[in-house]
Amino acid sequence: MHISAQFDSGNIRVIEAASPQKIVLGINKDNQSDFYQWFHFRLFGEVFETHHITLTDLAKSAYPDGWKDYNVLASYDRQNWFRVDCEFDGDNLSFSFTPEQPAVYFAYFIPYSYERHLDLVHDAQMSLRCEHRLLGETLDGRDINLLVIGDEEPAKKKIWITARQHPGETMAEWCAEGLLYRLLDEQDGLSRQLLDDAVFYIVPNMNPDGAARGHLRTNAAGTNLNREWAEPGAEKSPEVLHVLKAMTDTGVDMYLDIHGDEALPYNFVAGSEGIPCYSARLKDLEDTFKAALLSATPEFQDEYGYPKDKPGEANLTVASNAVGQKFDCLAYTLEMPFKDNNNLPDPVYGWSVQRCRQLGEDLLIAVRAVVSKLR
Ligand code: ZN
Repeated sequence: MHISAQFDSGNIRVIEAASPQKIVLGINKDNQSDFYQWFHFRLFGEVFETHHITLTDLAKSAYPDGWKDYNVLASYDRQNWFRVDCEFDGDNLSFSFTPEQPAVYFAYFIPYSYERHLDLVHDAQMSLRCEHRLLGETLDGRDINLLVIGDEEPAKKKIWITARQHPGETMAEWCAEGLLYRLLDEQDGLSRQLLDDAVFYIVPNMNPDGAARGHLRTNAAGTNLNREWAEPGAEKSPEVLHVLKAMTDTGVDMYLDIHGDEALPYNFVAGSEGIPCYSARLKDLEDTFKAALLSATPEFQDEYGYPKDKPGEANLTVASNAVGQKFDCLAYTLEMPFKDNNNLPDPVYGWSVQRCRQLGEDLLIAVRAVVSKLR
């Protein structure tokens, strides 16, 4: 029996693995940070023998509530990921698994590798609708890629979409992928019409270093990028610095920042009701966007979410608040679950790649509802 994590986004620490009866594992902290929650490892085990696996010391993880009612993801072929039932006692997440193949992968959510990210941006750049731009470099020397979809004309609305500031929230990049491919589909009437009125600026992975390193929440230097938007710096947060500069160059009429939430089993948005420039116009845009998304898909809901900021009390280091304030524009954080959408539960797969991608496609229906009045 052997457990390994030496691959893209791998993260595990073996505490005890003498026999399949008792395998105890820990999750490593993000570099120079106290956050830990993302795991991804391979078990080379005994076929048809039951393995009892425990992830321990989770009471001090970034989101202890994330483990309640959470079921781990497993895959033999690294394409199809299914759920394995877990139990959580407040500190230990335990599950039993009987492999049908010699090697099996386990992860917190379906991984989205840097290689897949490169495949995505290179596939996209082959489209006549897409221009691929390099915004800069990360601390580990990876590229920060921007995809510009549609012809840039001054009259068109500028819609910015960023995903995966928090690298362990891989659902964000799966969602961005769905949205991107719908925009690139030349047979899709909705996309054709949207691109008459708008240009999309998409950063599918804001944090490729953290992603490759197997981090939950931070970049190579242990910086939480979604608290850097007031004063990004070249040494701590070049990712934000480069993206914010590109936003300033183009202007922003709408912004969507895509995330995953560890604890809440729902899809929801967080608005910018607490920013100083919040107005009846921004509220109307938010309400229109939400109403359109609610009618587009039962995967979205507006009952469960984060507490709303009081007027003027928004945290302006957070991307959607900072961008909403700087550009006086509609700005949402979109959150997807690690667990499932409890309004539409799927015990086999839970929240999945297909559902992330579909939500990304459906987001464009809501964009269509607001695009004419964004500016
Ligand atoms: Zn996040």
